[in-house]
Amino acid sequence: MRKFTDLALNTAKNLGASYCDIRIINTEYENIKTRNGEIGSIDKSETMGYGIRVVIDGAWGFASSSLITKEGIENTTKKAVDTGKASALTIRNRVKLAPEPVYKDKWTTPYIIDPFKIELKDKLNLLYAADEILRKDKRIIIATGNLSFLREHQWFANTEGSFIEQILLRSGAGISATAIGDDVQIRSYPTSFGGQYMSMGYEMVESLKLLDNAERVRDEAIALTTADQCPPGKKDLILGTGQLGLQIHESVGHATELDRVLGMEANYAGTSFATIEKLNNFKYGANIVNLVADSTIPGGLATIGYDDDGVRAQRWHIVKNGILSGYSTSRELAHTIRENRSRGSNRADGYNNIPIIRITNLSLVPGDWTLDDLISDTEDGIYMDTNRSWSIDQRRLNFQFGTEIAWEIRNGKKGRMLRNANYQGITPEFWNSCDAICDEKHWQLIGVPNCGKGQPGQRAEMSHGCSPTRFKNITIGVGQKGNTSEQV
Ligand SMILES: [Zn+2]
Repeated sequence: MRKFTDLALNTAKNLGASYCDIRIINTEYENIKTRNGEIGSIDKSETMGYGIRVVIDGAWGFASSSLITKEGIENTTKKAVDTGKASALTIRNRVKLAPEPVYKDKWTTPYIIDPFKIELKDKLNLLYAADEILRKDKRIIIATGNLSFLREHQWFANTEGSFIEQILLRSGAGISATAIGDDVQIRSYPTSFGGQYMSMGYEMVESLKLLDNAERVRDEAIALTTADQCPPGKKDLILGTGQLGLQIHESVGHATELDRVLGMEANYAGTSFATIEKLNNFKYGANIVNLVADSTIPGGLATIGYDDDGVRAQRWHIVKNGILSGYSTSRELAHTIRENRSRGSNRADGYNNIPIIRITNLSLVPGDWTLDDLISDTEDGIYMDTNRSWSIDQRRLNFQFGTEIAWEIRNGKKGRMLRNANYQGITPEFWNSCDAICDEKHWQLIGVPNCGKGQPGQRAEMSHGCSPTRFKNITIGVGQKGNTSEQV
């Protein structure tokens, strides 16, 4: 690979570029879906190609190709330089990259079992066995199973001298049951969006124990169809991890992507209320709220050795003791908040997209409550879990979420199951109402495999660690509204 990366870097320099990087990526993908005892779809693909990014006359240029030959690399580099020269005519600010050490390194996702070595028939048999349990009751009208695996073998090189090889591997699995009764209701396991996803091997699929959970998923879906409607009112709200993960994603993660915050290309990224004059003084949440970005955490979907700027993975606070204290940044934008190094949050979807600032793994630091104690301590509340719908405005301020399942909590006891539960809030008010967070024994990473951003649209993956958490006096049961689109 070295000869191809050297060729791109030298060609760019000879054409006058002040900076160049190339990412060569081989992607293996397998996605298996079953529906009502039959194959829904099997997608298997392997692609290889490269993207070349240059800075010339102070502007970015980019081009990509799957033609990995001397001629292909030379032509693509020229194309990147040409697009940079064209955009240099219209830019207002010259690109300035924050310094980063030079690395020569190889980084690989730790895993035990290679999912691409497990036979298709074994994967299908697992999903069929879960399906059989889910559809043992005639009221289940749709049963689905999902297995998804992705491996990206990447080579990154830049004109500063870095050469980084990475092999990123992730696995995903989940089941769902849709029941019909008085109403149509869905229940998913372990979470919605096709299940749980982690940067691990097939061992993650085994650890989920899909078959041991299928009966409960089926029975909860059926029970939901005749459950009472979630009553409206102001109540204390306990969020389970299957909902809190997405709450963190939408109301903190996207709100603190620095390109959004700066209002750059607001038409596709949206904007944010968490503007830079609020850094280190804005009360984002209660004192017990600590939200940590961490691209080094084991199992996280955004856990990497280096981002697509060639910046080493890091851990930093976004919210510290309730105060806004950081953003997701890139080498290009770090200086706008007077930081002299990027946080390493610039990532691209595949080889044919330019990297943009993406949420990394962003987690709520655990507190010291057990879930039993938290429920005993709640007089009039609702416990909600597993996201079903979401909606948040462009500035990441006003939101509404619906969940698959909820239970009433009365005088410290978990009582009747409730359907069609939802809640709404305003981001800083909501996080400031947080008064209790469960401990690390209840803490888990929730994978988001389908975060959409950019123009043209790019998909990214990240995880949000959390444990069940209580928010005081929240508006509940205001009616179903929201987005159930494929991307979050
Ligand atoms: Zn997202």
